[in-house]
Amino acid sequence: DTDMLNVCAVEVAAGEAARVLPFTPGLDDALFEHDGQITKREVRALTLSALAPRRGELLWDIGAGSGSIGIEWMLADPSLRAIAIEAVPERAARIRHNAAHFGVPGLVVVEGAAPGALAGLAVPDAVFIGGGGSEGGVIEAAIAALKPGGRLVANSVTTEMDAVLLAAHARLGGSLIRIDIARAGPIGQMTGWRPAMPVTQWSWRK
Ligand code: SAH
Repeated sequence: DTDMLNVCAVEVAAGEAARVLPFTPGLDDALFEHDGQITKREVRALTLSALAPRRGELLWDIGAGSGSIGIEWMLADPSLRAIAIEAVPERAARIRHNAAHFGVPGLVVVEGAAPGALAGLAVPDAVFIGGGGSEGGVIEAAIAALKPGGRLVANSVTTEMDAVLLAAHARLGGSLIRIDIARAGPIGQMTGWRPAMPVTQWSWRK
């Protein structure tokens, strides 16, 4: 398996110096094909930490975008399974492409909008909500579907979704964090901090 992942990492990085894929989550954003809708690497590392995969578990990655969360979940161990739910067909196709390039073709892609698209999917051990969470019924459907003891993690970059997460935290508890990342970049001859959009993350155990 390790050999297979390494071969894939070299393939993904074609055009740059060949490199070996590290086994910790939070891979370089540039390794994924994406249209800007991707959970950035530092936030992704914290998200995988909160999702806390255990051997053999199934993840629902709702609003999967580029598929980066489901892909890193599956890369953590060959026993892990994931279903990516994505409403935009072009992005669903990109998820399949990224999964193939990372050597996890077993990632199941469901093209459709949550909560409707969640009906009938295999019962998850963990659910990540990266999009669609402010639409009615998505959080409720995720909570209803989760196994007892299962984990729910939801990220927000909008005030609308923040409102949903603050209300969920007030009602159900769990933990709420805010992730503020800034990267150093050039300002003329000098260097300055360029802040990314702050991310609100709610984690809860059923
Ligand atoms: N975690 C992703 C980024 C998510 S961006 C990554 O790392 O790549 C949010 C995504 O949610 C977008 O792709 C958007 O199309 C999708 N989305 C929004 N509402 C949705 C819904 N109701 N059902 C499914 N996907 C949805």
